[in-house]
Amino acid sequence: MDLAALVPSLGPWIILRWRVAPSALVITIASRADGRRCPGCHVVSTSVHSHYTRTVEDLPIRTQSVTLAVQVRRFRCRNAACARQTFAEEFGPLVRRYARRTLLLQDLLDDIGVTIGGRPGVRFAQRHVLRTSQSTLVRCVRRLPLPLPTAPRVLGVDDFAVRRNHHYGTLVVDLEQHRLLDLWPERTAEPFVGWLARRPRLPEVICRDRGGAYADAARQAAPDALQVADRFHLVCNAGDVLERVLVRHATAVRAATACENPNTTPAKGPAEGHGTERRVVDESGLAESLFPTSVVPSVPSPADRDHYPAETRPSGIPLSPALTSSSTTTS
Ligand SMILES: [Zn+2]
Repeated sequence: MDLAALVPSLGPWIILRWRVAPSALVITIASRADGRRCPGCHVVSTSVHSHYTRTVEDLPIRTQSVTLAVQVRRFRCRNAACARQTFAEEFGPLVRRYARRTLLLQDLLDDIGVTIGGRPGVRFAQRHVLRTSQSTLVRCVRRLPLPLPTAPRVLGVDDFAVRRNHHYGTLVVDLEQHRLLDLWPERTAEPFVGWLARRPRLPEVICRDRGGAYADAARQAAPDALQVADRFHLVCNAGDVLERVLVRHATAVRAATACENPNTTPAKGPAEGHGTERRVVDESGLAESLFPTSVVPSVPSPADRDHYPAETRPSGIPLSPALTSSSTTTS
């Protein structure tokens, strides 16, 4: 049987012999070349110093696992100026130096690890006579180089709390790839300006919070980018507006609530239009009666929102009187 026809990837090497072992088909191969180039001085040497055998696992043939017994020659380097005295021949592109699997098999395991994952990947591999384990697949994935970062078209920027009300940082995200791009420990404009200046291509859209720092930085470093408010902060705006409307019509809403629930005694609060609207809503339980807790949108506390200057709020989005009244207590 011409085994070379079954294993075309072994073309550049000689198949010396093969045998069927209990666990695999063992194929012994060797190099055809008379000499090898020293990796230190790049001078070709034909002086063989010794031999040894490497055992390398290859792709299976149908249902038969394949093991390559690679006969490796060690050459003497005859260049007196070279620091190497001997060197071993390499078998690229069949197998990398020190590797225990051929490149074809390693690429296949990498693909299985990336696309299928650890445990299901092992089940898939075993069905295709590939000997591997969950930890091996995880190691394969971890060894892969990270994908090169691409220039984000839609960039998200927001702050995050390192220590709530004390220390905040900034994070930027590629919103189309759902990938975190960078973090830094301030939420001022200057680092964001520098970060944008280092980009090979500026984003087309910058999705940001209602703060002025990121808006200023975006105007300065990416003046052509469209600035939009992100969903979370739009919900904040909507919550502020709803709160203001409810406070303004608190008496009418309480009366309507009492009509629907005659057994409930409406709580009394200060007259409408006073500067303590937030306390009126909270004490009367108005918001709770109108909106069960499960559907009330999550709105950041005044302490979190106070760092946004009122003048940087996007135009057309009204300002909550509660936020206005609390905006003097900056964090
Ligand atoms: Zn050399």
